[in-house]
Amino acid sequence: MRLPLPLLSVRLSLSARAFSAAAATGGRPLPKVNVVARYEKFGPVDSVVKLREEPIEEVKPHQVMLQFMAAPINPADINMIEGSYSIQPPLPAIGGNEGVARVLAVGSDVKGLQVDDWVIPASPGFGTWRKYAVCDGEDVDPIPREGVPLELAATISVNPCSAYRMLHDYIELKPGDLLVQNGANSSVGMAVIQLCKHMGVQTLNVVRDRPNLSDLKARLESLGATVVITEEELANTRSLAEAMETFKGAKPVLGLNCVGGNSAADIARLLKDGSSMVTYGGMSRKPVCVPTGRLIFNDVSLRGFWLSRWTETHGKAERRAMIKDLMDLIREKEFKTFVQLKPFEEFTEALAMARAGFKEGKVVLTYTP
Ligand code: NDP
Repeated sequence: MRLPLPLLSVRLSLSARAFSAAAATGGRPLPKVNVVARYEKFGPVDSVVKLREEPIEEVKPHQVMLQFMAAPINPADINMIEGSYSIQPPLPAIGGNEGVARVLAVGSDVKGLQVDDWVIPASPGFGTWRKYAVCDGEDVDPIPREGVPLELAATISVNPCSAYRMLHDYIELKPGDLLVQNGANSSVGMAVIQLCKHMGVQTLNVVRDRPNLSDLKARLESLGATVVITEEELANTRSLAEAMETFKGAKPVLGLNCVGGNSAADIARLLKDGSSMVTYGGMSRKPVCVPTGRLIFNDVSLRGFWLSRWTETHGKAERRAMIKDLMDLIREKEFKTFVQLKPFEEFTEALAMARAGFKEGKVVLTYTP
């Protein structure tokens, strides 16, 4: 499919060409035309984001040129485009916050990056739904690629990192402890299950009912989920009591909530006295309601987690150490993800798949050079 070329009239200057000549490229010619998923105003994602061809900028000495290989469509990407997210990029903007790219060219002043390295964005708002990018060397972090499948490299920096932080930053979890979470089949939820298994922490996992529930339960159990129940079972005293028998009287010392509404209230009801429920998402788009007595009589605390805040307030070294820990688990085959790959050219279908409920896995865009 030939795409519109609204910006191809932009001409490359001679001085810019000189910069490119100075960039290391491993002897390969650089691409000249990009395809980007751009939006010029905030609004419904299926109407404001358009694929466009654009000329690629030249690489200045402090810059690198990247070729994206894979990038997921996460809920926050959609919220950002709708204008309902806490970060609003300057417009026009390119969609996508996460992904993995190969370095095609390295400017002469850039340290620590080489042609063919795999890199991920150093912070949110990068704009990963594009075939190529020219950016400051500082804006990306190299990742150790050996033994790491592409889809995991593309999705390592948001959901697994969020799970990792929530399991380390609110309470010191010990082997045998119990955690309860809703949205357990989300990418974050599945990361929580796998990290908990590694830490010896038991998990009570809540999902929405669906026709193929037994398949979903089997999938989550194969990752290490101790018990999987539906939201209805969580809300029902008898089925909840049956599910809790596995834990022999233990109560959850940590609750993770990415749904809100009644589901959050039911999680809060289960928690051990003095423990916390950490809210990190609001998939039902309903407010978090907690029974008053849980706060007064049981001293349950409500906390919030936002990875962007963590990234902003912690150094690159700490983020790299966390990603290395996760990559080590991937290499040891202790961590996996479920994705549905979709070529970037089929962006509209990919968006529809990503926004649908009851998905089989995270929708990940793939790019061909
Ligand atoms: P995924 O796209 O992998 O999965 C979405 C999940 O949401 C599925 O479990 C889905 O369940 C569930 N869901 C969708 N609609 C509803 C609904 N109406 N009611 C209840 N559950 C629903 O999600 P991610 O793992 O990428 O993200 C999960 C949440 O975590 C999102 O809210 C995201 O914004 C948030 N997040 C927050 C971060 C932070 O820093 N605070 C960082 C990363 C993620 P089903 O299969 O039944 O449709």
